[in-house]
Parts: sequence; C-alpha cells; structure tokens
Amino acid sequence: MNAKANAFARQSLSDVKLNKSEIKDTVVRHLHCTLGTDENKANNHAWWKATSAAVQELVLEGLRKTQKTHYLNDTRAVHYFSAEFLMGRLLSNNLHNFGLFEKTNQALNELGVSLSDILEEEPDMALGNGGLGRLAACFIDSLATMELPAIGYGIHYEHGLFRQEIKSGVQIERPDSWRDYGNPWEICRPESIQEVSLYGYVETKYGENGRIQKEWHPGSIVKGVPWDIPVVGYGGNTVNVLRLWQSESSDYFNWDVFNAGGYIDAQRENVQAETISKVLYPNDETEAGKELRLIQQYFFCACSLKDIIRRYKRAHGDDWSRFTDQVVIQLNDTHPAIAIPELMRILVDRAELDWDDAWAICTETFAYTNHTLLPEALERWPARMLEKILPRHLEIIYEINHRFMAEVEKKWPGDNAVKAKLSIIEEGADKMVRMGNLSVIGSFAVNGVAEIHSKLVKQNLFPEFNELWPGKLTNVTNGITPRRWLKACNPKLSSLIDSKIGDDWPTNLSKLEQLAEFADNARFQKQFMQVKQENKQELADEVKALTGIDIDPKAIFDIQIKRLHEYKRQHLNLLHIMTLYRRLLENPDYDMHPRVFLFGAKAAPGYKLAKDIIYAINQVAERINNDKRVNHKLKVVFMPNYRVSLAEKMIPAADVSEQISTAGKEASGTGNMKLALNGAVTIGTLDGANIEIAEEVGDDNIFIFGLTVDEVHALKFKGYNPYDYYYQNKEIKAVLDWLETDYFTPGKPGALASVKQSLLDGGDPYLVLADFEAYCKAQTDLDAAYREPKRWAKMAIMNTAKMGKFTSDRSITDYVERIWKLSSCHVD
Ligand SMILES: *Cc1c(COP(=O)(O)O)cnc(C)c1O
Repeated sequence: MNAKANAFARQSLSDVKLNKSEIKDTVVRHLHCTLGTDENKANNHAWWKATSAAVQELVLEGLRKTQKTHYLNDTRAVHYFSAEFLMGRLLSNNLHNFGLFEKTNQALNELGVSLSDILEEEPDMALGNGGLGRLAACFIDSLATMELPAIGYGIHYEHGLFRQEIKSGVQIERPDSWRDYGNPWEICRPESIQEVSLYGYVETKYGENGRIQKEWHPGSIVKGVPWDIPVVGYGGNTVNVLRLWQSESSDYFNWDVFNAGGYIDAQRENVQAETISKVLYPNDETEAGKELRLIQQYFFCACSLKDIIRRYKRAHGDDWSRFTDQVVIQLNDTHPAIAIPELMRILVDRAELDWDDAWAICTETFAYTNHTLLPEALERWPARMLEKILPRHLEIIYEINHRFMAEVEKKWPGDNAVKAKLSIIEEGADKMVRMGNLSVIGSFAVNGVAEIHSKLVKQNLFPEFNELWPGKLTNVTNGITPRRWLKACNPKLSSLIDSKIGDDWPTNLSKLEQLAEFADNARFQKQFMQVKQENKQELADEVKALTGIDIDPKAIFDIQIKRLHEYKRQHLNLLHIMTLYRRLLENPDYDMHPRVFLFGAKAAPGYKLAKDIIYAINQVAERINNDKRVNHKLKVVFMPNYRVSLAEKMIPAADVSEQISTAGKEASGTGNMKLALNGAVTIGTLDGANIEIAEEVGDDNIFIFGLTVDEVHALKFKGYNPYDYYYQNKEIKAVLDWLETDYFTPGKPGALASVKQSLLDGGDPYLVLADFEAYCKAQTDLDAAYREPKRWAKMAIMNTAKMGKFTSDRSITDYVERIWKLSSCHVD
C-alpha cells in the first residue's frame, strides 16, 4: 500500500506543471482579481490569501477529478464521523503535498514576499480539543495520500477551541475566530443542504399491512449547510473532502409563529438553530451533560447520514442490499454514537425495512474507536433529555436494548448483574443512556488506540462484550502524518534525511530505519545535532518574541506539550523542577547540565485544579526566571495558546519529550510520536503508545520510569496513602510545603495550596508522589546521558530512525485491512 501510494506520489510531483513564473502570475492575478489590491498595497495577510487562492485552483481541480473518478468507479468509501478535526494551518501542508513549496518560496521571494512570514498569517483551524481531533486530521491526510475513497464528517464550529492568554500567570479564555477574515480553503455547498428534526413527539399508527408504524412529529427543524474543506494527499493526486455542517434556522417551522405576529419569537427560534454549531465544547474527556452538546452530536450525524444515503441512492435507488458494500462508518469515540439509532430510524420508519434486516445493515456499517478508560469521560445521557430532544431515538434505543438483553440472557441465564452491567440503560433515579455500550452493541468492530489500551478495554472496560463476541474488540495503534510532523515542520532535518536515504520516506516511513546505520557515524551525528541546534535557536527567538524570556539554546530543551490534565501529570514535572531549584539553592555547584523546561497546555475552563496547575507553573517560572542565582542552570517557560501551529515550532527543537502519565490512563498519546520522530528522547511511563515506542527504539534510547499498570492496580488495591511518601521523602515534603508559602506568590501565601492539597488530603488519585522518586532518578540519568554528546546524538538519531511504525499510514493500513475492507482508487 505504501509503496503504491509512493509510486503515485513520485509520478505526480513531476507532473505538476506550474513553474515559478506561472506561480507568480497566478498569485498576482488573485491579488488583483480576488482581493482587489495590488503588489504595492498588499500586506502579508493579502499575500497569504492570494497565495492560498492560487493553490486552491489546483486543489479544486484535484477535488473535481477525484470525485468524478470515485463516482465512475462506484467506490466503497469510509466515512469518518468525528465531532472534532484539529486541522491546524493548511497552506504549508498543501504546498508540500503538491510538491510546490520550494518553487512557491522562490516565486514569492522574487515578488519581495517571504513565504514563511505569510504562512504565519493563517489562523489555525482549531476545531478540536487535542489528541482525538488531531488524530482525525492525521487520518484524513493518510487516507488521501493512500488514494483511499474517504470523507470526513464533522461540525463547522463558528468558534474553535478557545484562544488562551496568560495574565499574571492565570489562564484567560478568549473566543477563537478562525473565519473572521474569511477562510480561503472552504467551499459552501448550498446544493447539499440537509434538514434535521428535533423535539416533538412520536405517533403510533397501524399501517395498511397491519404493521405498527411510528411517525416522529418534530417540534423543530434546523438546516445543515455543508462546508467542504479539500484534503490534499501527498503527491496531490487524490483530493478528498472534509465536510463540516453549519446549523441555520429553517424557514419551515418559523412561519407559523411569524404569521401569528410573533416576530420576536420567530427570531428567537433562529438564534437557537444557529447556536448549534456556534462553539466547540472545550471539555477534554470530561462530560458536561449539556443538552446543546447532544444536539450538536445528533445534528452532524443526521446531516451526514442523509448525505451518505442521498449519494448511495443516486447510484443504487431504493435497493438497500448493497448499502454495506458501499458504506462503512467509523465513529471517532462515542460522540457520533447517536448515528446508530438514527440509521435504524431511517431504515425502519422511513424505508420500512424489518427490524432484523435494518439491524443487520446497521451492525455491518458502524465501527467504533474507544479513546479513554477514564470513567468520568464515558458519555452517558439522561434518558429524559433524549426523550425530549429525540423521542423516537429513545424508543429505538430501548428496542435495541430489549433485544440485546435477550441475547445476554441466552449467554448468561438468570445473571442479573451481568445484564445490569451490559445494558445500554443505567437504571437509577435518573435513567442514563450509556453511549459506550450502545456503540459496542451497534458496531461490527471496536478498537482501542494502543496495545495496552486495547488490552485494558478487553480486560477491564468491556470484558463481557469480549466474551460474547470474541474478535470484535481489537487494537489499532494510533499514528501521525509524517508529512506535517516532519517534512513540513522540520525542513532542515527533512533535507538532511533526504540527503542520506532519499526522499521517499514521507510515504514509506520505515525507510527511516536506514538512518540507524549512521547513528554512530561522527559526521552524521554532527549534522543531526547541528540541525537540532539551529531549530533550538529558532525556538529561542520565538520564545523571546512571545514571552520576553531569554533562553540558552545550549541548554537541554525539555518539553511537555499536551492538554492540561491531572492524569498527564504536569504537576509531577513541576515538582521535579522545584526540586532542582532547591538543590541549586542549597548547593550552587549542584552538578547538572543547564535545562529549559517548556510547557504548552490549555485547561478546560471548568477544570479548576487544571487551571491552578497552570497558575502554579507560571508562578514558579516567574520566580525561577528572575533568580540570577540559578539562571545559568534553570529556566521555565509556559508558552501561551498551545495549538497545532505552535506544536510545529516547538517539536523540532525538543531534546526531551515528557510523557509521564499515570500508567493505564493515557490511551495512546500522539504527541509522544511527533516528538520522537523529530529526534527528542522520551522520558516516560509504561503507558499508552510509550510502551510501543520503547519497543521500537530499545531500552537504551528512552528513559522509562515509574509504576506499571499492574503495580498501579496493586498499590491502589493495597491502599495508597500519599502521606507515606510525604513523610518519607524529604524533597517531596520540602517542595509541597514550599507551595504553601508566598515564595512563588509574593504577598499571597496559600495561592498554590490547592495543588499540594490535591496530592495529600485529595488522595493523589494519579499517584504523583508514588512516582516522584523514580522520576527524579530518571531525570538524573537523562542529564548524565546528555553530557555525553556522542551517546545523546546516537539516542536522538535512533529515535527518528525507529519511528516508522507510527506513521498514520500504518494505522490506516490496519483499519483498511482489518476493519474497513477498502480498496484504493487511483486518480489520474
Ligand atoms: C498532537 C497534539 C495533541 C495530543 O498530544 P498528547 O501529548 O498525545 O496528548 C494535542 N494538541 C495538539 C495541538 C497536538 O498537535
């Protein structure tokens, strides 16, 4: 598959006929005709738009050809349903994927414009929270690159994830307005508008044929307007599409109110409809149980299913027998799980299929990816809320459950405990609908996202489902696209790799293994570390510009970038930093290589302790960075507004990758893969994909520490008391007590006490103190390794060399072969 995709890539790179002067002409034409300005008046923003419009000409030609080819070949396609797509910027990627980056750079240069400057004008498309949304973005990149027929379906949020400002150390959330000045990539498709029903009641009727018929009389109808974002595969042959739905009020419902003189009420109805796609929920892996969120989920699933069925019917009419040959739907977590009862509703109520036939189609259509084991993150909706918003769907869910319970009874006769556990409905004062159980029951395949995570899904989360349907639960380890996360973000390392092993690694990442041959080669080590040094200098300049902090590029750049969550343990990192600070104050000659700790993290606005940890990091950073006694050894930087485009600047400059979650809590992680691919050495726990990264790079090239999943379980079982560690380890006690003084918050003693409190009286649920000593020891070992330049260079090279497994092309190959059963379709 890789080799094939690669052959196409090579062919088309040389096929793209645009030469430098044509690029110049096209960009200038857009400056004149699209933007109504000229070369003298245009600022960087205008140049960015004109250049994007020029590239979009090629994109749209590719899109048209791809859609025609897929239509003529009546291809089976995967439909990737995801409430989040964290796309980042598109211009640089599209240029790279068309093989036009260098030519465009030169063309713009001749026009007196800097490509790297204008790339900075593009707002990130931040329509996602973190790993889950970025995974969806990497997957659609791989699908297009591998010439697989695929469409991404999601929500056209008016506001993506909030923009983070740090004021006096505190996170402030500001609205993200990614479309304020227009988005050159998206295309509105009013010809494909769909209508979606909400609220109302269900009427039971007796049909002509004596069958009971259900009819949903909605109380409200909203319009879904599709916006298409073209997704350019590497090589530029296949251009797939990401279709995002925007909600609008539908005239249908409001006229009654309007005619009755209720103009204001009619307007209110409009506002509500448009609220649906207004804003992305910023809760990373915790549930708010908000009505609007359920409506968002149903809205995009219903629009997408209608879109899929319209396309299917165009080719196959009312014959449903080939539906599952043509359509497979991947559910990215349970957010789109409501699509399961929605498809049943369409098949049973609308197409009038028998329940069993409809259910057979459903359970051959859906596959579900589980992303978390955290109990608070498993989605559950109050049955009463579903009844109000989607009354027919609740009935269907009850029917699915009723029939499923009969299956459970057959397998475990008389066992009410197992029924209570497997039921879609959680009984209680407030009945709840468990979307995870619904997803497993309604899908033909369920996957976790790393080996250990999938094992825990089978053993702990869904053991009975695994017994009932052996083989249904499986693993597909996550991956990242090496086009964005190496080729585009780290041009210097990419050129060095090209010069050593050729330039086909972006579509065949296991070729990087050839670099291992040079891992001991002094000349290559020097070149590799020279690139790292230059990237560190660039990041140092960026840090200075963004925060005013001076950092030394000769120091170790130690980076932890990810959403802020207790399980990810940014506070473990912080306690170690404070420990180093103390050691330096107690002993000015304390022996360590200078180190800069860099953080990037957003906290969900409602997650109090996460915001307290951000405040603590910033306050400790402020104190340390202004303490001349230690600044030759220690600096701490909190980079505001972590997002894809900032990740692309930080990752190439990392020496150390912090992946320190409590074992068993991080499903996979993908930041770990991005950093290792760029030659950062991981310090991490045996959690998520860290385990597989360790297997690939070998024990000598990673710093593994801390409790394993089994040890975590054993310790919790035995009874974990964080005070044991507090009283036994002087450094733990010292740094925790330090947090309570006003040393880091002058005049405000106790301002950081909540962090200490969570680790002691709070019970330290993520075992920070239990892992503290092992972490400090690993950090000391790491410091020693860095001070042997040859050893470190080899480690860094081996990390890049051994990341082949973690290309998202491999993940997609796994899905294609084991779940989707898709064939590629070459576009000429
Ligand atoms: C990759 C990525 C993530 C996921 O990081 P983890 O370390 O796997 O949690 C989150 N946010 C952004 C912007 C990313 O690019």
